[in-house]
Amino acid sequence: MKKYITKLMITCILVASALSLASCDTSENISKIDFFAFDTYISVTAYDCDDSILAGVEELVRSYESKISVTKEDSQVSLFNQNKKANFDSDISCLLEKSLDACKQTQGYFDITVYPAVKRWGFFDDELYIPTPSELKDLAYKIDYRKIESNGDIYTTTSDCEIDLGGCAKGYIGDKCADYLVEHNVTSAVINLGGNVRVLGRKNDDSKYNIAIESPDKYEYIAYINAEDTSIVTSGAYERNFVDEAGNIYHHLIDPFTAAPAQSDIKSVSIICDDGTLADCLSTALFVMGSQKAIEFSNMHDNFGAVILMNDDTVFVSENMKNIVTLEDKYTLYGGES
Ligand code: ADP
Ligand code: MG
Repeated sequence: MKKYITKLMITCILVASALSLASCDTSENISKIDFFAFDTYISVTAYDCDDSILAGVEELVRSYESKISVTKEDSQVSLFNQNKKANFDSDISCLLEKSLDACKQTQGYFDITVYPAVKRWGFFDDELYIPTPSELKDLAYKIDYRKIESNGDIYTTTSDCEIDLGGCAKGYIGDKCADYLVEHNVTSAVINLGGNVRVLGRKNDDSKYNIAIESPDKYEYIAYINAEDTSIVTSGAYERNFVDEAGNIYHHLIDPFTAAPAQSDIKSVSIICDDGTLADCLSTALFVMGSQKAIEFSNMHDNFGAVILMNDDTVFVSENMKNIVTLEDKYTLYGGES
């Protein structure tokens, strides 16, 4: 079977984020940096910010990449996977604790121990492999975040367990980049880590940023979110996937209970949350849950907002977001009312 991989970045979000700055008075002092890290396109656009500060943001992201990335053999995460034991630095321990908390809160729909499955399916080699049913059973048995234990700063796990923080790291780093900018007296910026958008403050004219969510099908937008000081993180099956000759799509969002790409009736989930790590974890988890569970979960929690594009192109918008989310005309609000 011929296999190939497509990776669509959330270009429209990038464009929209940039436009929300650029559409202001051109005399405004706007600076921008773009670079590639974490296997994705990253951009930071800021008001009244020296280029040297933006270079500092890039350095910060790269330092996280060297600590977290599973493709770097000597990263703290890779060493943990090899040795089944690690003394993470306090920053990575904090990310790990936050992500384990999300694993618990989502009852394992978000699970940082999916790495053996993500690897086996070929997402790190860019070559699709379809595991047999018995392999999937073995893989699903390996996945369980409760296999990670901590004693002070020392973390240990079982011999079959491996972690990947790829589903939560960019949300965490978005917040850290915002903190860095604030420390350097920058008060207004949009940080976009491949679809993980962190908004810092308001635009210089004191209006909020208007962040667009891309439609996975075409280069169109689903909705616009009027935002300040928050994260907007989108996950979808379209971001990174294999398509075989028969047109079957195998995407990178894994159902921890089957070890296979989640059979979800959702096209994309965007989470709006002041905590970027949680936003990142939940965008993955709610996609994997499928619409019914995702809506129930969203209705039960008020610490985040959700915009969920269903396969039938209806869009669920959580009650607490209805005053800041504007849908494009062609999309119908899930549940009927407008
Ligand atoms: P991306 O970072 O690729 O935009 P996500 O933030 O949604 O997308 O996270 C997807 C990444 O997280 C995958 O590449 C994989 O490494 C990991 N992952 C996949 N499924 C899960 C899951 N159910 N729980 C936690 N992490 C997952
Ligand atoms: Mg995520």
